[in-house]
Amino acid sequence: MSRPPSTGGQRVLVIEDDDTIGRHLQAGLRANAYEAAWARTGGTGLALAQESCPDVILLDLGLPDIDGVEVARRLRSELPNALIVILTARSDEIDVVVGLDAGADDYLAKPFNLTVLLARLRAHLRRRPVSETETDAEPIHVGDLVVDLAARRCLLGDREIDLRPKEFELLVALASHPGVAVTREDLMARVWDENWFGSTKTLDVTMASLRKRLAHDVAPPRITTLRGHGYRLELPTKP
Ligand code: CA
Repeated sequence: MSRPPSTGGQRVLVIEDDDTIGRHLQAGLRANAYEAAWARTGGTGLALAQESCPDVILLDLGLPDIDGVEVARRLRSELPNALIVILTARSDEIDVVVGLDAGADDYLAKPFNLTVLLARLRAHLRRRPVSETETDAEPIHVGDLVVDLAARRCLLGDREIDLRPKEFELLVALASHPGVAVTREDLMARVWDENWFGSTKTLDVTMASLRKRLAHDVAPPRITTLRGHGYRLELPTKP
């Protein structure tokens, strides 16, 4: 087994009102070479985030003062490059969808294991830098859809589509092979991590929000669900 890459003192901000979970997270992160700060309310969390510009924010959705989704929205607008991971005790999928829509990159359902959380953070942080192949890549054209990896932009006709990082990567994975079925496993490995520990529900949630963002156009690209297999971005039909 390969050694986990060094975390290089990356700054994590935990926003969590539960004492046991907050303390456990902070101690666990510190023991793994992260700088960890802990805020017990949304208000303190937002203030600390502004002050310290953390690389990662672990955000509980059920906070005593401000709704966690609203905190996610404000964090995203203030810290566009931070990794935001929602921690939710709510089993309701709606909260996860709304949280991801508000700008979170990922979520973990409580109770979760610290090892899983750390693996997830490493996977995300490893993926952050833009690779050379991406900066050199030619834009991908599928009908009216243009996916520009170098600029990290998505255009539909002359309209720019604002996509979250995971939605963008998911679209890249499909648009790189238009008309070809891509398996769930391939998408999970490519967009998340080859050692993904969590549920693949995150794929369905991200796919749903990607479709929603692409759906506003008159002739949106079609993504077909292949039940039990994966997805396929359809080639444009000839006029
Ligand atoms: Ca809570």
